[in-house]
Amino acid sequence: MSVRVRFAPSPTGYLHVGGGRTALYNYLFARHHGGSFILRSDDTDRARSTAEYQQDILESLRWLGLDWDEGLEVGGDQGTYRQSERLARYQEVAAELIAEGSAYYSFATAEQLEAFREEAMASGRSPAYDGRHEPDPADAMARLAAGEPATVRFAVPRPGETTFVDVVRGTVTFDHVQVDDFVILRSNGTPTYHLASTVDDVDFGITHVIRGEDLLASTPKHILLTEAMGAEQATYAHLSLLMGPDGKKLSKRHGHTAIKAYRDAGYLAPAMVNYLALLGWSPGDDETVVPLDEMVRRFDLAEVSKNPAIFDTDKLDWMNGVYIRELDVASFAEAVLPLVEEDLERSLDAGEVATLREIAPHVQERAKLLSEVPEQVRFVFAGIEYDEGSWNKVMTKEGADVAVKGACERLAVLDNWSIEGIEGSLREMLATLELSARKGLQPLRVAISGSSVSPPLFESMAALGRERTIARLEQAAARME
Ligand code: GLU
Repeated sequence: MSVRVRFAPSPTGYLHVGGGRTALYNYLFARHHGGSFILRSDDTDRARSTAEYQQDILESLRWLGLDWDEGLEVGGDQGTYRQSERLARYQEVAAELIAEGSAYYSFATAEQLEAFREEAMASGRSPAYDGRHEPDPADAMARLAAGEPATVRFAVPRPGETTFVDVVRGTVTFDHVQVDDFVILRSNGTPTYHLASTVDDVDFGITHVIRGEDLLASTPKHILLTEAMGAEQATYAHLSLLMGPDGKKLSKRHGHTAIKAYRDAGYLAPAMVNYLALLGWSPGDDETVVPLDEMVRRFDLAEVSKNPAIFDTDKLDWMNGVYIRELDVASFAEAVLPLVEEDLERSLDAGEVATLREIAPHVQERAKLLSEVPEQVRFVFAGIEYDEGSWNKVMTKEGADVAVKGACERLAVLDNWSIEGIEGSLREMLATLELSARKGLQPLRVAISGSSVSPPLFESMAALGRERTIARLEQAAARME
């Protein structure tokens, strides 16, 4: 039997980091077993589904590098993978279930259902609706023929229970007393999530349903539906939900929750994927930095933890820094180029791109986030802008003006304009003027970059070029007078 798994997001929001983790585990499981990873769209909620969210889900999955074999955009045997285009199929299944007695037309009103619930709670019984307010089948047909609106409910066998072995959580049992005769078709003919999801899983031959723990209570319903359809049961695995570092359900209070936000902030996709993989699974041996192909090799769904996983952006930032340093310089420069251009609101010309490549390794050494980079290299591509805090701290110190003027004179006549040449000349100046490196070089840094925090000084000057370096030193000297 070949493994077939699916990721089934509803396009009612941007792809959440929890959804990204679910997609990743499905992907790892499929690839590990040489199976198929299917992407469908649970878009039956027409009011809340949007094309923008659907697009975001596709783009975010592609950005993460989680390619799928069948489904949206890539197509496959099923034709369509959008639930909104399969309504006739869901209605057909509902009709079959009614015909064989597994489902019935329900006329219970909202008031009746509410009264039932209140009564049940007051007398300590389960509030799960058991169909007691429904007419007998002949009556039901008459009322239907008279045009009365009806939903279709699944007739949960009572008494009874549903037991299944969840790969992550072990044996799970639901007493049917707790499971209501759930609606499968609304009175307007649209399917509920339970019907659409189960019919798709059956029709698409899904062997393993890997999804969030929030759907655990839906699973007995899906198992009952599958059984009623006479189909084979899938294996289920429910992943624990993501928490913030404070142990509360992950929300915007903890930072960004959309994959898109991390993509926009310049996180590296392989770092994000690596971090998401660790939210509930360990590749073994305390190892944390593991590339995707290696994770595919090692992935084991049975090893996934049922404990809540903590989504901690500090750890993600650390991981991102590791991946940034692993990039070769050319890839790093290529990755930051669009961010730098966006920051400057213009494109860099070929000479400037070469300059960016030159300065890139010195920024790469320290960056945790690509989004930090534009600010650090802005002084090279835009005019000087002094950070007043840095200026007041550094440029008013004794010796600052002497250093700036001294550097101006020496660099103007330097033969060898290179990192080593600049360093040699300025160290000589420090010795002659009897200035410490701190006292003598900090003012130069502020003069050329505007800030006391910048990439290394000699490298920055080399990238800036002689003309602009000297112009900036002169400008600073004039401002100090
Ligand atoms: N469409 C559901 C959601 O976005 C997931 C369905 C499933 O995995 O069964 O929460």
